[in-house]
Amino acid sequence: MPAALWILSCTAGCWAPVGPGVSGLVERGPTDGASLELTYLGTGGWVIRYGADVVLGAPFFSNPSLVRTGLGVIEPDTLEIDRQMERLDVADARVILVGHGHYDHLMDVPHVARRHAPRARILASHSTRNLLGLWSGLQGRVDVVESFAADVESTGTWIPHGPSLRVLALRSEHAPHFDGLELYDGSARRPRDRSPRTAAEWLGGKTFAFLVDFLEPSGAIAWRVYLQDAVSEPPHGLAPGAVIDERPVDVAILVPATFDQVEWSPEAFVENLRPAWILLGHWENFFVPLDAETRSLTLTDQGHYERRLEKVFDGEYWRPEIGTRFRFRR
Ligand SMILES: [Zn+2]
Ligand SMILES: [Zn+2]
Repeated sequence: MPAALWILSCTAGCWAPVGPGVSGLVERGPTDGASLELTYLGTGGWVIRYGADVVLGAPFFSNPSLVRTGLGVIEPDTLEIDRQMERLDVADARVILVGHGHYDHLMDVPHVARRHAPRARILASHSTRNLLGLWSGLQGRVDVVESFAADVESTGTWIPHGPSLRVLALRSEHAPHFDGLELYDGSARRPRDRSPRTAAEWLGGKTFAFLVDFLEPSGAIAWRVYLQDAVSEPPHGLAPGAVIDERPVDVAILVPATFDQVEWSPEAFVENLRPAWILLGHWENFFVPLDAETRSLTLTDQGHYERRLEKVFDGEYWRPEIGTRFRFRR
């Protein structure tokens, strides 16, 4: 079925509601001392902070409707982006992690990067740099990760961002959206000279996940966070065993959406990353405004995902509402 037709037909009833997730503030560990803080912004958007180091998972707030996304021109809602970003203290953010180029991961990034995170580097694929091309004003701020990236076979190269932060890109993949079909597949081969206008022009390109290490002054790893912004079929998106043997992941951010299109997600990620805690992101309906009640309707069988997760993971995990903050301390 053509994508646009599928999207329109789904307005009639593919959506299923999920139960309440978590909201507000979640704290684990002692109540004083430095904390690793993560705030969920919706879709693939996160603020991850330890001390003075701030990392952004690519924020997305514009949320064009399903019909417009399927059939029309889409563009960033800069008023909404400003309203959301001004609540967050991220002017010193060091890096914005963009796992792939689909509109719900990249369309709002130029405005965020120019206006709200003016010092941040952008880690992304070659294709994503081409999408941001000549029109976005970000030509000098994108670091292409392909030649630095790790996978289960090779350890890759960590990219430092100041003395106490480093990032390792992990070669990943993008699961099909439905019936084995990935929408907006393909790569941008040369720099664009104007912004993409339709969802179909925001090409995914190669997909990456990321390990983020926050370092103590001694160089020891204070916290290790794993961030994925699309489900992948393992071993794509897994970290090298040797890296995890040195230090398992403290907080893994995993994506439930479309997990049923691949095998062994989430099981293989739990086994590989050995996370202490898991946060689920990009689980909710992003075709409606951020505060719409229908935001908790999802195409994914969330209950099935969570039952499978519980079979292999006996730690705590959460499915946060937008704005939920997590504070972890030791
Ligand atoms: Zn995508
Ligand atoms: Zn997405």
